[in-house]
Formats: sequence, C-alpha cells, structure tokens
Amino acid sequence: MDKKYNGYDFVENCLKKCTPYRFSGSTEEDFYKWKDEMQEIMAELLGLYRMEKSEGDEQLISKADKQGYTLEKYHMDTLKDLKMPYYVLTPQNANGKAVIALHGHGCNGKEGLIDAENADKENMEKYNYTYVYDLLDKGYAVYVPDLLPAGERMFGIYEDNRAECTDVNNALISMGMCLQGIYITEMSMLIDKIKDNYSSIGCCGFSGGAHCALWLCAMEDRLSFGLLSGYFHSFKDTLIYSNRCGCNFIPRLWEFADMGDILAIAAPMDIYLETGRDDELNGIRGIQSPIEQLEIANRAYSVFGKKLKLEICEGMHKWYGKILGNI
Ligand SMILES: [Zn+2]
Repeated sequence: MDKKYNGYDFVENCLKKCTPYRFSGSTEEDFYKWKDEMQEIMAELLGLYRMEKSEGDEQLISKADKQGYTLEKYHMDTLKDLKMPYYVLTPQNANGKAVIALHGHGCNGKEGLIDAENADKENMEKYNYTYVYDLLDKGYAVYVPDLLPAGERMFGIYEDNRAECTDVNNALISMGMCLQGIYITEMSMLIDKIKDNYSSIGCCGFSGGAHCALWLCAMEDRLSFGLLSGYFHSFKDTLIYSNRCGCNFIPRLWEFADMGDILAIAAPMDIYLETGRDDELNGIRGIQSPIEQLEIANRAYSVFGKKLKLEICEGMHKWYGKILGNI
C-alpha cells in the first residue's frame, strides 16, 4: 500500500511536539505549588468536576467464610444511576491495613482477581493474576471492585467477551467525562467509606489496573502506597501503536503530561513499580521508555530526598510480584 498520504508522519510529529507541564523546581514549596496546579488541571481533563455523586450507600450482597479469610460482596451507589460491585477479602490474621486491588483486561474484572468460577483461567495463568491472594497472605484486607465496563459491569455490546472500554469511553469523552475519571471518583468514594476502619489504605494493580492505580496515586492523597506492575512507559512510545484500548485515553492529556509527570504528582507517596524487560506494552524502545519516565518522576521525588525504583523483571507482560517485598 502506498502510504504517502496516510498522515502517519503528521500524527507522530504532533505527538513529539506535545510538551508536558513538567515539574522543574527544587524545593518542597515549588513542588506543592506545581502539584496543586497539576491536580486541578488533571481534574478538569478527567471530568471530575462533572461527576454527579450519589450518597454512596452500600449494601452487603453475600458473605462466606473461606479457609483463612472472609469473602464479602457489596455494591455501592457511586454516581447517579451507577452502582459499583466489589469484593472484600478479610484475612483472619488481619494487619489493620487495606489495599484496593484493581484489575486489568482479560480477567473478567474482579472475578479473575479472586479466581472465581467464571474467571478466564487461561489469562489468569498467562498474566499470573495472583495479587489479591498475595496481599491477603500479608494480612491486608483487600477490596476488589469491577471497573466500568468490565466483569458484572459489561454492557454486552459484543457477542464475545472483548473489552468495551473504547465504546464506553467514546461516549463519555463526548460528554466531558472519561473512564479514568469515573474510576478515580468511585475509588475516592470507596475510600471515604472505609478510611476509618484501617490504619492505612494502599492500591495495587497490574496492566490496566496499574494505569488506574497510577491515576489514583496522583489524585488521591489519602493513599499510603501504590504497587504498579506492567504499566509505565511514555505515551509517545505506545499509544498510537499499542495500548489502544479506550481506557487509556483522556482528552488533551498529552498536552500536559506524560506518565512520568502523572507519577510525579503522587510524590512523596511510596510507589513501587515493576515491568518485564520484554513487555511489549513498553513500546518500540523497550525498557528505555519506563526508565526515562521514572527519571521524570524522580525529579519531583528528589525534593523529598526520595528516589523511586523500577524493578525490571526478566520476561513478558505479567504480574511478577517482586514489588510486594516493599510493603
Ligand atoms: Zn480498556
């Protein structure tokens, strides 16, 4: 095919010209000024000011005693006309802390994370989706929500179970909202609800779940830590070539921030990152892309005398769990 007129160079060059509003200060005061501005800009882009919250009522749906833990299912009114179902796993040897565990794609939402009957067993094995039980073993109460539109929240647009993020996000962005904005609003409402029951609350995710966790760490100062696996690289390396699922897209974001800048907003929160050296989601430049983005974030962390580390694991796109040793 003759690609002379296809516009590829145009899009790529536009992408290269996007210059984020990057932190360049050197004191804590500089940082908090920048953080406040960025959180406000991001809230506008994410549509957070347009979210119509409900009262946040929750209802217990079921409760079962399992070996070593209790499994409860709730649903919670989040936005007007929107309910979020979630599991809560509470270990017998609880440490008084909680983690919100966020799912990625291909696991039937929260069902995959708790290895339910209706989980996609093949993908569970391929991506090593074990973090809910890894966290439970460490004594954390683990909250496992379905993110829109996955698990029980699928719209049923397609015959098969393929992700519907693109369809739903297209509709939302046309109304000034987006999926990530809904996730942040819902998780903040969940934190409102549970914060007094625990000494601290962290978040954890793999792949699309790590993307959501990245945003939560940036926008939700009440979290104490983040565990991010398999999602951290430059938007410029990937998002017109791979990672094209709709949940990745926020209107005008690339004008203001790359992923390193989003992580920088989270400073000085403790965040632990891991990625596979051969993870194709890192894009055409491989591991170089996450390393560069980490340097951007560490410019902000250095103000607090801190330095985030990226655990580079040998292999493909999957949950490795090496970062668990930090919590
Ligand atoms: Zn998606």
